[in-house]
Amino acid sequence: MAQTTELVKVVVVGGSFAGVATIQTLLASIKSGHKNIQIILIEKRDARHHPIGAFRALVDAEYAKRVWIPYSNLFPKDSHHKIIQDKVTQVHHDHVVLASGQTVAFDYLALCTGSDNPAPAKFLADSSKESIAITNKAREDLKKSKSVVVVGGGACGVELAGEIKNAFPDKKVTLIHSSQTLVDYPGYSPALKAGALTHLRELGVDVVLGVQAQIEGLTFQNSIQVAPRTIVTPGKTIESDIQFLSVGNRVDTSYISTLKPANSSSFDSSTLVHADSHQIKVQKTLQLFGFDNIFAAGDCADYSKVQTAAATGAVAPTIAKNIIALEEAKAKNKTAKLSNPGWYPSLMLLATGPETGVIAMPLIGTRFSNSISKALKSKDLMIGMTNSSMNWK
Ligand SMILES: Cc1cc2nc3c(=O)[nH]c(=O)nc-3n(C[C@H](O)[C@H](O)[C@H](O)COP(=O)(O)OP(=O)(O)OC[C@H]3O[C@@H](n4cnc5c(N)ncnc54)[C@H](O)[C@@H]3O)c2cc1C
Repeated sequence: MAQTTELVKVVVVGGSFAGVATIQTLLASIKSGHKNIQIILIEKRDARHHPIGAFRALVDAEYAKRVWIPYSNLFPKDSHHKIIQDKVTQVHHDHVVLASGQTVAFDYLALCTGSDNPAPAKFLADSSKESIAITNKAREDLKKSKSVVVVGGGACGVELAGEIKNAFPDKKVTLIHSSQTLVDYPGYSPALKAGALTHLRELGVDVVLGVQAQIEGLTFQNSIQVAPRTIVTPGKTIESDIQFLSVGNRVDTSYISTLKPANSSSFDSSTLVHADSHQIKVQKTLQLFGFDNIFAAGDCADYSKVQTAAATGAVAPTIAKNIIALEEAKAKNKTAKLSNPGWYPSLMLLATGPETGVIAMPLIGTRFSNSISKALKSKDLMIGMTNSSMNWK
């Protein structure tokens, strides 16, 4: 790439798995010569949340602080890269508008705004202090409770029920799931789904399948509820004094509604997202349709079938590679040869405590339990990996 004094501004919105993978790949390219790229990370939170450790944080006070990682070491000291703590509310073809009213111009934009889950998986609050307080309060409420209900048997519900039962073996823990199969995502082995059920029952969790539980007062906003509730199912009556909602992953890409190509007032920006999931539609190059300089990856985009950090980590670096390819082609006055992320792992490991978990190999379907789960995930919930991507010890 020709070295010019003019900075090429790459704005990355969202500093989690997708955003940080994009940034780390860009930083590597900058190190090897692309010095005129300036990265601007716009992140609404004051620290990076590591959701993979969220349920351990619920039961372990020491872990609650560890799942919030400062952004202070992300960029090399004295570099020209910047972090702006604010929320992007509007995206335009060459700039974004923030909640504070500030506008930030870009040459390239990477939308990595992820998804929201009910607390304590993720948090509606943008402050780490406030989010830690929610987790700590829930832990104290859990300690006082006798019987716990978790609604939703996706990966989060399975892990949440498992972590609670593991930390508080004397409490009655019931997981209620609407369908007959736990963790029923496309592309995952039947051995994982069956293994999750066997594993939870071995831990002592009461799993109730095929029941659509509507619990009074339990909502996405109020997803941890301390209240006596009775659920009557065809087979049994379930009493609980604390309930957790673990369904309803949400994607907020409302900022896209302002995006139009330059000189086009008639463009319908609703075509850029899926009406049901609100995920951004991306080409195989991760570019938005009709916007060569705007990319999206991770939970907010439709590239991966299942929203996982593993898939995101494999896919998102392609944003950086394609930005570099576009810049190099521009310098040579040529058409860029862009890449596709290609394969990403459909491997899922469900941790249910520091020593326990279940994993099934894709395709061959072999189910492994505690010892392999512990080595691969359960012990530290991959926090070391996230710390290292943030240059944090
Ligand atoms: C409890 C739990 C456990 C999980 N365990 C695993 C696991 O073991 N393995 C696995 O592979 N996956 C796991 N996942 C899934 C994984 O966490 C997600 O797929 C991953 O977080 C997606 O990363 P992301 O960067 O796309 O988005 P997110 O992690 O959701 O991050 C998005 C970032 O964007 C910021 N943001 C959002 N909107 C704006 C805005 N408008 N302006 C500025 N900033 C914004 C947010 O603050 C956030 O920092 C788990 C998820 C949960 C909830």
